[in-house]
Amino acid sequence: MADFEFLQNPISKKWIIFSPRRAQRPDIANGIEPVCPFCPGKEANEREVYRIGGEKNDNNWKIRIIPNKFPFAPIHEVIIHSPDHDKNFAELPLPQVELILKTYRDRFKTHEKKGQVYIFHNRQKGGGESLPHPHTQLAVVPSHISLDLPRLAAPQEMAVATNGQIFKETSHFVIFCPHTSQWPDETWIAPKERGRAFGEIKDREISDLAFTLSRLIQILDLRHGNEFPFNFYIYPGGDWYLRIIPRVKVLGGFEVGTGIFVNTQDPKETIMFIKEHFENPNEEKIKSFHQASYHRGI
Ligand SMILES: [Zn+2]
Repeated sequence: MADFEFLQNPISKKWIIFSPRRAQRPDIANGIEPVCPFCPGKEANEREVYRIGGEKNDNNWKIRIIPNKFPFAPIHEVIIHSPDHDKNFAELPLPQVELILKTYRDRFKTHEKKGQVYIFHNRQKGGGESLPHPHTQLAVVPSHISLDLPRLAAPQEMAVATNGQIFKETSHFVIFCPHTSQWPDETWIAPKERGRAFGEIKDREISDLAFTLSRLIQILDLRHGNEFPFNFYIYPGGDWYLRIIPRVKVLGGFEVGTGIFVNTQDPKETIMFIKEHFENPNEEKIKSFHQASYHRGI
């Protein structure tokens, strides 16, 4: 049986991926995979498609990419963030975060003509993570499979998208929490230079993005507790953006059935919290809203 199959619902036209072999994925938390396959020392066990640092199969690397053993797309790669089993974006040195983002760009450009290059990160089991060693996945989805992703607001629509222009600016990016956020505290990072695919990101933008992404995760850690579950993805088409989705609520029957999300968090308050902490993230602050409401599905 093939690893996966794209199936379209003939009525709704929505796609699913049928991939029963993924049920056999390793799961360290449940004791199915006792040793981390991404830690240094395991290099010879995996076919490597790319690395930064060292020589083939040695353990002197900074970043490695291996094929996903349980793919759900024709090209499905795992980008291992660093040799460190525990440190992720909020803790790694910024030059390492920059290397990770440059690797995203390189792999995006390597594959962009083959389909829709969808780069995404899962943290914690609640974010869909099956191995805890920090990593990002890249899946190239065939062009005919429509991805139901929101596009970035056009420049003239940004005033509405950014809640009457409540946003945080960096040198090259605008950080905002959309008026129509589906998840509590979801946060978008959009480049000021619009209309480009992610592969066109410049080095100076990558430096800014490395700082911005790591700082936002630190701020959301402050808000939800270290190591809260989240996802982010990079929009695979033109006019790219990066969307961080804290997975701090459980979807209920209405949301799962209808696809209409009930957002219980005011995005204006979220962006104000981000602005307040962006320059001084370590400042001790008491969480200013009720986490309990996040855990109730609707
Ligand atoms: Zn590890």
